[in-house]
Amino acid sequence: MFDINKVREDFPILNQKVNGKPLVYFDNAATSQKPQVVIDAISDYYSSINANIHRGVHALSQLATDAYEVSRLKIQKHINAKHSHEVLFTTGTTSGINLVASGFSKFVKEGDKVMVSAMEHHSNIVPWQMLCERAGATLLVIPMNDKGELILEEYERLLDEQVKIVAVNHISNSLGTINPIKFIIDKAHAVGAAVLIDGAQAAPHLQPDMQALDCDFYTFSGHKACGPTGSGVLYGKEKWLNKLPPYQGGGEMIKEVRFEKSTYAELPHKFEAGTPNIEGGIVLGTAIDYLNQVGLHNIMAYEQELLSYGTQKLQEIEGLKIIGTAENKTSVISFNIDGIHPYDIGAIVDKMGIAVRTGHHCTQPVMEFFNVPGTVRASFSFYNTKEEIDALAAAVVKAKNMLG
Ligand SMILES: *Cc1c(COP(=O)(O)O)cnc(C)c1O
Repeated sequence: MFDINKVREDFPILNQKVNGKPLVYFDNAATSQKPQVVIDAISDYYSSINANIHRGVHALSQLATDAYEVSRLKIQKHINAKHSHEVLFTTGTTSGINLVASGFSKFVKEGDKVMVSAMEHHSNIVPWQMLCERAGATLLVIPMNDKGELILEEYERLLDEQVKIVAVNHISNSLGTINPIKFIIDKAHAVGAAVLIDGAQAAPHLQPDMQALDCDFYTFSGHKACGPTGSGVLYGKEKWLNKLPPYQGGGEMIKEVRFEKSTYAELPHKFEAGTPNIEGGIVLGTAIDYLNQVGLHNIMAYEQELLSYGTQKLQEIEGLKIIGTAENKTSVISFNIDGIHPYDIGAIVDKMGIAVRTGHHCTQPVMEFFNVPGTVRASFSFYNTKEEIDALAAAVVKAKNMLG
């Protein structure tokens, strides 16, 4: 059973006061807070097994290597990947996308097309633009409607055999929209295009199934899913990881090095050059255990309750407009108040101990589409409460009265 009071006890940071008020942390889409088990696991790693992996014969190095590989297996199981070598450790979503976009230079030629959507994070736009510039390819954009939903008929119209890869997010960080990625993947495969899913906003809320989705690449960050900063995962289908050239050269990723020519290591090591974030990789496994222990179904159900409560509460405020009203969305509420700059609202609610994000949320094209300079974004996690939403609504009303 999901017990919110018990869950909150797991997060020591929630006990503190900010600006003299109890902290209300509603910036979960930027990064999540960490449960005590994760904090302890970081400290335990450095207190008892810190050593470089895959190198030494000594006992500590073996312990660290085993822990790192156990975590890879946990992640494989969690996302239902067919093979553990399809799970690559990265430093986050951004590096996962760059790894794929860089390697796709091999497959994208002049006149080819690469497709993203109108609601992508900058990190799922810019690496593809860079690829298109290198290759002389064209970047296509799947448009969205006024609710912040992708227009699927337009997507199908844009697809053809020149499209080499489609890169879309599972869940939008600025709108909360949950995209129909299974449909997107199947349609792309029908024209021979590969698909990368940016799962940065999905990993904290749901359990993506690689084999059921049949996506070619799926990437997420540890820090948004209760794990350490600088940890992350790129899932890649074996057949693609075998074809894709290495991203970075260095130690760990080679079989043999000669000045004439070097050969590369087997998967997954081919894509893990240099000393990785060992502690991050290991503790990401701890974070995933924690999420499973709370239960992702419980998490999603409770967050949906917070979403409908928050939507209703905020909508009662006159002049407040919610941006991103998709039928299928997660617990992200982006909003603006007529005639008031989002930054000013953010600054005033911060004085009341409430952390929200203001600005473009690394999605400038989304802001342009809705013709706003930015939004105030409140993103709820499973450790938030309805009382905290009441506090936000009261603070927003106060800000509105002060500024309006
Ligand atoms: C946060 C985020 C990213 C970037 O993740 P990093 O952890 O900064 O690498 C990419 N896409 C989406 C949808 C995000 O929310």
